[in-house]
Amino acid sequence: MTKTAQMKKIHDEVLALTVSPLYTYRTENGYLPVIGEGSHDAKIMFVGEAPGRNEAKTGKPFCGAAGKILDELLAVVSLDRKSVYVTNIVKDRPQQNRDPLPEEIEIYGPFLDRQIEIIQPKVIATLGRYAMVYVMKKFNLDLELEPIGQAHGQTYKAEASYGPVDIVALYHPCVAIYNRTTLGTLKKDFQTLVKY
Ligand code: URA
Repeated sequence: MTKTAQMKKIHDEVLALTVSPLYTYRTENGYLPVIGEGSHDAKIMFVGEAPGRNEAKTGKPFCGAAGKILDELLAVVSLDRKSVYVTNIVKDRPQQNRDPLPEEIEIYGPFLDRQIEIIQPKVIATLGRYAMVYVMKKFNLDLELEPIGQAHGQTYKAEASYGPVDIVALYHPCVAIYNRTTLGTLKKDFQTLVKY
């Protein structure tokens, strides 16, 4: 199966995911699942938390206020959306943008795992605490987990089924929406990606 066909299969499975606690909320509001966007051969994969309202309306990740910041950050390191892959752990919008629940992460996590296997990125840049914890635990780096205030900007070496992968922990772009100082920190942390 081609990478595109494998991604389409993930899309179709999430679309029909009636067991998800977010399924009814999605269908009642006419929202779409947000699977991910970008190159299926990307070297760098960005993993956020869960779609917000704009994302659930369009089916595209990071297309609202947080997305504008993400684009600004990508521009700092001369990357564009087409050359990377952007996704989230949770593929449906949680009510009122609340934090994802453990059972939601458990239901949607395996789809992210499959996306990682399809794309085989050399770098997984986690956006925010939830993505960092999920990805680090997935690669058995539980012991290296630190609070995001210490982990941000750091690189953790891991071994994927297809070879080595670097995990770069970053703050979630949302934190910079109302706090321009954090934007400076994020820009500095994004420089970590230049070497790739
Ligand atoms: N925040 C996220 O974590 N993901 C999105 O797609 C949008 C906002």
